[in-house]
Amino acid sequence: MNKMTISELLVDYKKFLHHDITIQGWVRAFRSNRFVALNDGSTINNLQIVVDFENFDENIIKNINTASSLKIEGEVVESQGSGQTIEIIAKKICILGDNFTEELQSTILQPKKHSLEKLREQAHLRFRTNLFGAVFRVRHAISFAIHSFFNDRQFFYINTPLITGADAEGAGEMFGVSNFDFNNIPRDENGEVDYSQDFFGRKTNLTVSGQLEGETAAMGLGRIYTFGPTFRAENSNTTRHLAEFWMIEPEVAFNNLEDNIDLAEDFLKYVIQYVLDHCKDDLQFLDKRFAEDQKQKPEKERAKEGLIEKLENVVAKRFKRVSYTEAIEILLNSKENKKRKFVYPIEGWGADLQSEHERYLVEKHFESPVVLFDYPKDIKAFYMRMNEDNKTVAAMDVLFPGIGEIIGGSQREERIDVLRQKMQEMHVDEKELWWYMDTRKFGSVPHAGFGLGLERLVLFITGMTNIRDVIPFPRYPKNAEF
Ligand code: ATP
Ligand code: MN
Repeated sequence: MNKMTISELLVDYKKFLHHDITIQGWVRAFRSNRFVALNDGSTINNLQIVVDFENFDENIIKNINTASSLKIEGEVVESQGSGQTIEIIAKKICILGDNFTEELQSTILQPKKHSLEKLREQAHLRFRTNLFGAVFRVRHAISFAIHSFFNDRQFFYINTPLITGADAEGAGEMFGVSNFDFNNIPRDENGEVDYSQDFFGRKTNLTVSGQLEGETAAMGLGRIYTFGPTFRAENSNTTRHLAEFWMIEPEVAFNNLEDNIDLAEDFLKYVIQYVLDHCKDDLQFLDKRFAEDQKQKPEKERAKEGLIEKLENVVAKRFKRVSYTEAIEILLNSKENKKRKFVYPIEGWGADLQSEHERYLVEKHFESPVVLFDYPKDIKAFYMRMNEDNKTVAAMDVLFPGIGEIIGGSQREERIDVLRQKMQEMHVDEKELWWYMDTRKFGSVPHAGFGLGLERLVLFITGMTNIRDVIPFPRYPKNAEF
């Protein structure tokens, strides 16, 4: 007999009615010594197993506990009770793994409400809960939709290096990579660390972004995207930063800033729509959880829309497109700024926007996702294309409610003389990036791209509030358990 998941069974249950099947999973609950709620992770829905205890050995019944794993053979019948369409009348029960009952008491498998902090401490067991089952199934659907979006549009998936010799990008603090014996680090005659003796013969780091290498690929393949892990040693203990996160970076030859914004908007809407279409059960669960969460908050802080409603609205509406300069005007004139309610008050043009400002624009002023573009050149990276005003660069950030920046991107500077001058001003070593400069020497073309942090999108779509709860094993300052 073929192995089957609960999800496969439920989708097509009519086909199996009055047939015997085999199903395996973990016990979520055992009621009245008769009803097992079995879950195998394939869906948020449990399968009800009816156990006529008269027909089974007492030892078996005794070992059907919360969290134990079972293999059941039985007949699929229409359910008598409410809450499920079908159930299984058990004919054979095999306990695959029972429990260390005493140790179970202190785990999150104990069926009661646990705090998200406690769940995080037992991240290896989170997959067994309804909440994290839903979050990680949705995370999968998002990843799948991302590949599907780009594949449909003839983008090629490129893998850029995780260990990099380039530390010029400046997107964030980097983690060094070395196989030196830390107790005996080779030094040169000046007492400096001698990286020429290290594994790669030079100083290397974990990548903060695959963009620069991605650009070289786009300069031959046309449309590419990366989708891989990224590392930032930023000591920011926020609910939106991880030290290890997954980034998606498309790069497109011949695209300008407007094409880039269009691509970002289409992309986000496609992925959100995909999840709406393919993760109904999980989204409904998350929607209910979100609503209950809102009820705990003071009325002023409650979200105006439900989770699913919010997702549908984002897909339906065109994102607001606003220049940085307009945004500064709005912020300067805001009550919040005048009454000094911002932690970092906006003094004027040139200010770097903090998450509080981004969220004001999105949540209070526009009540819509916002794309900000044309930022002051001094607060953006060296490779962004200089605008004609000589003050701003062709940068764009997509800002989402509850999140702030979800995407950052730009049209790239394709003119080598302008790029060179900018690198000098910003003290970026041209010699180190000789290979990057080559892309501007041999058939340079306008091009543009952006970076999306996968976990920020998962946060938005699941309605979770801490980024540590949307990646299986989060990495953040002072934590690398598991
Ligand atoms: P922020 O200002 O929020 O720190 P950033 O300007 O450093 O973001 P970029 O360097 O433009 O971000 O990176 C592109 C995208 O990667 C961001 O829009 C965001 O979605 C995501 N991202 C950046 N840093 C992190 C992080 N530490 N953890 C998770 N996602 C991140
Ligand atoms: Mn950052």
